[in-house]
Amino acid sequence: MTRVLVVEDDPQLVRALVLNLQARQYRVDAAADGASGIRLAVARWPDVVVLDLGLPDMDGVEVIEALRGWTRVPILVLSARDASGEKVAALDAGADDYITKPFSMDELLARLRAAVRRKEAAPLASETAVVETDAFTVDLLAKKATRGGQDIRLTPTEWHLLEILVTNPGRLVTQKQLLHEVWGAYHGSRTNYLRVYMAQLRRKLEADPSRPRHLITEPGMGYRFEP
Ligand code: CA
Repeated sequence: MTRVLVVEDDPQLVRALVLNLQARQYRVDAAADGASGIRLAVARWPDVVVLDLGLPDMDGVEVIEALRGWTRVPILVLSARDASGEKVAALDAGADDYITKPFSMDELLARLRAAVRRKEAAPLASETAVVETDAFTVDLLAKKATRGGQDIRLTPTEWHLLEILVTNPGRLVTQKQLLHEVWGAYHGSRTNYLRVYMAQLRRKLEADPSRPRHLITEPGMGYRFEP
């Protein structure tokens, strides 16, 4: 049974979440502030955490940092609309995904299932050598990308970006994370480079680069590989 920890200070939303999750056979613990959320995470070892960023006692990002000190549990962040800086900070701190309030319960449940699936698939990820989409195939061991049976030539930088994205399927990877991984340091100005390299990757790999289906931009935040 999947155990969900909800950290949220809005009692109505907590009640709605608990009812909906329990109805789908999730086991739910709820905390109304950050400190009790961290305590419950330690005590209950949840399979996934749903975390509000606006908590009464501490910033949600601090909760993420505290959890990331000892656990890789998927963290799905709840955030107010128009708070993209906040979302980026949460993702950079190690959150796995975010959902904007107000959200539909169906959307939240879908994100939750995806986060749990990724966690369960994670131990296999390093053994999964081949990632296949309907447009292209990436062989991580052979370091080769093909499209329609044809080898696609990628520069080392393009390859590195692609590798990070396809090994995090469905996950939003922030600009900062990509810049840090590929260029080794964070230079805000290099977000332009990222845009250029992503455009090149799309040209080489997507069936219709102007309407990408696999290498998705999340404006102002980062990129997501949809298998
Ligand atoms: Ca709140």
